Amino acid sequence: MKRVLVAAMHHESNSFNPITTGADDFRVIYGTDIFANLRPNDSVTGIIKTLQAAGYEVIPTVFARAVPNGEVDYDFYQGIKKEIIRRAKAAQAEAPIDAITLSLHGSMRVKGQGEAEGYFLEELRSIFPDIPIFSSLDMHATMTQRMHTCCDGFVGYKTAPHTDCFETGEQAAKMTIAALEDGAQAQAAWVRVPILVAGEQSETSVPPMLELIAALREVEQKEGIMAASYLMGYPWADNEDSSIAAYVVADGDLALAQREAIALAELIWSKKDAFRFYTEAYEEAKALDVAFAAVEAGETPVYLSDSGDNPTAGSSSDCTGFLQLLMADERTRSLDKPVLYGGIYDPIATKQCAGKVGQELTLTFGAKFDKVTSSPITATGVVKAYIRDWSRGMVKSDLALFHSCGVDIVLAEAHVGYTSPQMFIDLGVDPQAAAIVVCKLGYLTPPHSAIAKRSIMALTKGSTNEDLTTLDYKHVKRPIFPLDKNFAYNAKDNLMTKLSEV
Ligand SMILES: [Zn+2]
Repeated sequence: MKRVLVAAMHHESNSFNPITTGADDFRVIYGTDIFANLRPNDSVTGIIKTLQAAGYEVIPTVFARAVPNGEVDYDFYQGIKKEIIRRAKAAQAEAPIDAITLSLHGSMRVKGQGEAEGYFLEELRSIFPDIPIFSSLDMHATMTQRMHTCCDGFVGYKTAPHTDCFETGEQAAKMTIAALEDGAQAQAAWVRVPILVAGEQSETSVPPMLELIAALREVEQKEGIMAASYLMGYPWADNEDSSIAAYVVADGDLALAQREAIALAELIWSKKDAFRFYTEAYEEAKALDVAFAAVEAGETPVYLSDSGDNPTAGSSSDCTGFLQLLMADERTRSLDKPVLYGGIYDPIATKQCAGKVGQELTLTFGAKFDKVTSSPITATGVVKAYIRDWSRGMVKSDLALFHSCGVDIVLAEAHVGYTSPQMFIDLGVDPQAAAIVVCKLGYLTPPHSAIAKRSIMALTKGSTNEDLTTLDYKHVKRPIFPLDKNFAYNAKDNLMTKLSEV
């Protein structure tokens, strides 16, 4: 029975967010426990099920995943990498490993080191120089020369929001199987496309991504093509690799992979001006005006996204700018029901509400991590609810609901995402009955959009600021769109080499 080593490492690291993502933030599963924790829409599940169905022995090592946040702690990353390597060597000592199939995000960054996946792949490759290594990636992966050099082939998700994670894992596993059974010789080509684009402008259900993804699927139908991906990069990481990648894997024919990758790069470059918001999006004050007018018109609940500080895209979730505007606005207090606001990450302020339900408090909260973008709020209000160890998300968190100035504010002890209306319901308030619901999100998640009568994105400040041209990039390679405009681009000249070819 052929033996395939599997590992998964997922984090999207925001270099503008000062928080260090560490052990407390990661969910780490070891060895065969991974089999007991497989989720349906997960690339690692697609990898494992496909390999097992093909009759392989899967050797599970480590599965590590955290909600997007600031860059990852160096020691934690080294620990995870060491543990995977230790398990790989132990498995190899028992019987030879035939291949490695990984489930990676591709935009994980480590404090004091830089790219995470490239160094991990480099170490794996140095230990296993001759066996196939394939990996699935997130669509928002940032390709690097080290990653390109040390892996036989990647394949990225083709949907955003990501609903095809299982299928992408399945495709990575199928490339592994093709290499082991049919002697497929994976040849990968990568063309850099100098564009920074936010996820909110690149949903795959609308143009231009709709046609771009259709083009990928067409390429994948061609004889000899194993995978074709647009790796869109992650714009809130300031490093020289940030950009889009057109990436194609072909069987035994590097020239074919290169031709197709160049054509895909030209295609996406030609659509660069078409990336735009498909949700209504306005600067902060205008967003409030539009929202209050929508309430007048009876379009409730109106949803507002505090998009510049979106924890699910890696922001600190403690920026207070938009909340301060809401609390200071006369119109907020004149509503029949409080505005629901989810929320502010502040462990200290959250804990100060414990055991105080029904009591009036003066609290200072917010801007404890990101001290640059906004300042803390001090306000008197009433604690309306408190939940210990709320655990519907990826991390457990105490939650408080603090009412002040016409706003029900969720305070969170952990860096949680505001992805589900259920959080408000658990805290005893009904978003469906509210006039205005504000969430620190970009585009709304399906459960929120199912109840939103109107959805407005407020272009607020924070480390996921949607207006990329206002961010202080220092390391991104220039020129790059949209920071630079009107520069010439030739896909052929941006065909990237492997380190070994330099
Ligand atoms: Zn993604």
